[in-house]
Amino acid sequence: MRKFASPLAILLVLTCAIVLGVHLLIDRAIDGAIKSHAEMDAMKWAKELNSNLLESGDALANGALTEDQKAVIDAAIKFGNVYAFIVYDTSGQMVYSSDYGAPGPGSVRTVNQTAQQVVASGTSNVEVVQRVSPSGSQSVFVDALVSAKGQDGRAIGAVQVYLDKSDIATFYHGLLDWIGLLLPVVCAVIYAIPSVAFVMKREQAFTRNERVRQLSRYDALTGALNRHTMSTEAKKRFADRDAYGEIGVFFLDVDKFKSVNDTHGHEFGDAYLKHIASLLISNVRETDLVGRMGGDEFVVCFPNASFEFLDEVGHRILNEANQPFEYKGKTIQGSLSIGVHLAELEESGPEALHAADLALYHAKTNGRNRMQVYFSALDAALLRRCAVEARMREALERDEFEIHFQPLSKPSDGSIIGFEALLRLNSADGTPICPTEFIPIAEETGMIQVLGMRTLRQAIETAKTWPDDIFLSVNLSPAQFQKGDLVTEIEALLTELVFPARRLELEVTENLLMADEERVSAQLVGLKRMGISIAMDDFGTGYSSLGYLWKYDFDKLKIDRVFLEGFEFDNARYREIIETIVTLGHKMGMQVTVEGVENESQTEMLNEFACDQYQGFLIGKPMPAAQALETISTERAAKPSVA
Ligand code: C2E
Ligand code: CA
Ligand code: CA
Repeated sequence: MRKFASPLAILLVLTCAIVLGVHLLIDRAIDGAIKSHAEMDAMKWAKELNSNLLESGDALANGALTEDQKAVIDAAIKFGNVYAFIVYDTSGQMVYSSDYGAPGPGSVRTVNQTAQQVVASGTSNVEVVQRVSPSGSQSVFVDALVSAKGQDGRAIGAVQVYLDKSDIATFYHGLLDWIGLLLPVVCAVIYAIPSVAFVMKREQAFTRNERVRQLSRYDALTGALNRHTMSTEAKKRFADRDAYGEIGVFFLDVDKFKSVNDTHGHEFGDAYLKHIASLLISNVRETDLVGRMGGDEFVVCFPNASFEFLDEVGHRILNEANQPFEYKGKTIQGSLSIGVHLAELEESGPEALHAADLALYHAKTNGRNRMQVYFSALDAALLRRCAVEARMREALERDEFEIHFQPLSKPSDGSIIGFEALLRLNSADGTPICPTEFIPIAEETGMIQVLGMRTLRQAIETAKTWPDDIFLSVNLSPAQFQKGDLVTEIEALLTELVFPARRLELEVTENLLMADEERVSAQLVGLKRMGISIAMDDFGTGYSSLGYLWKYDFDKLKIDRVFLEGFEFDNARYREIIETIVTLGHKMGMQVTVEGVENESQTEMLNEFACDQYQGFLIGKPMPAAQALETISTERAAKPSVA
């Protein structure tokens, strides 16, 4: 609205000026009209009196008026607003005055210069005198001097008439006041209203234009700069490094935003993105740029930055993003991942953004909710990841993933009671790619859905060749629970392959339980109800939450091999920890498997705790299906009583 104040003020001033101008013009016109009206009146009266009084010319000579002549003057004074009548002779000397009559003999006769001029020139002289009383009423008097001529046309003197024109002036000025009042209204109708309408239209157009400008610059949802503006503005800063020095770049991404959207709906997701944008804006300086690059990705550009500054801002943002966010009664505790890069003077904008993006990628693959500063080795890591992903897609298509089986034994007699299926993949040159490298990629890319079910199918097909009392354990990724149809899929598979659910064990890790408790727990209950055993894998590496153990009623606890690794260095301490976990598992009604059993000294210690199962290189390394079957056969041949 401020932008319209000056045009409006100009309009107002213009309108006032016009009203005032018109008022002055009318005032002048009225004055002129009064004057000419008075002049005409005075002339008329002067002529009238002249012809009635001075016809003979005698009156001027001696100033003596007949009674008839005086009656005419009295009538004029009474009815014609004439309040004084003076007659002059040709020399300009007064010969008669309606107030004083004829001057007495011997009185000093002064000459009226104006009367003398009027007689000499034959032209009239009219003056209008206006006075305004303190009460505001206006008096208008007219003083008219008209030359008097005899019947032969000869100048015989002059007649002066004083007229009171106050009434007509009052009438005209009253009229003027009305016009003065009406004029602004008329102005409003013919001028101001269209002007105001014009101004309003301009305002609307301006607001519209401003909105269009905003839309074209800012992201409509979050209010951050949009992608186009962000890159244009960043480009300007990167082009002027003298002014902007070293420029910091944050590439940010909301962790698991898809699942926020899926779980709480798009309205909640939008509100969360708005919240993140305002969190970013409130944590940076005014000179920094915050832009939304699309989806849940944001970029922040910090001119004249330093590592210390970026580190401080980044941690502040991460901390604030960890605070619970509530919208319409739903609450989440989200997180962000940040890729950080401080661009050197010779670096271009796109190069800096690419580096920050790469760092973000590593922040995400290293567990999210963290910031990662770019360093050159990340480039090689990305290349490696791309190569592995490409190989995985190829292997999936050509069915080149393999499954190895690692035996689990019963401590009491060392007999094999089950196998864990572990995926294997070789690169094109035959070197193995570790599952800890390719499984996360499968999870991120969504390949795990197909790969997971295919692994389960193949593992069951292999397990069907084993004796009926040997179980099969298969790892499940959290991502496999996302679609929600895991129970029906596995049930259908078991039915199709005619494999008893009691022989199948599924291993899950704690991070599955943290994701989406309701959804996951319903599926875990469904699997257990089918008779499948559920094992909590890698216990001791995550939160080791007793809460999860109580809540989910696991059949088995697998103690991660880090404890046995620790035992090698600090026997007493790790012995105690392992004993505690075994006791805890048993107390909660679970079987306990110890992972990573590699030597006899470990089994000696473990044998004291009545563990249910051992798994590790001492019992057997993961082996191809054929070798697993051979191992079972060999063992059963050696100990026929076990079969
Ligand atoms: P995990 O489930 O804990 O599997 C056990 C891992 O420990 C295996 O590594 C195995 O080779 C290794 N291991 C077993 N005994 C010993 C030992 O005595 N000493 C040492 N140093 N290591 C031992 P691997 O095969 O590399 O698998 C790594 C992880 O990859 C697995 O850990 C599991 O989390 C994941 N993984 C493997 N296959 C699958 C799969 O089919 N699906 C899913 N979702 N994850 C899988
Ligand atoms: Ca496992
Ligand atoms: Ca494990």
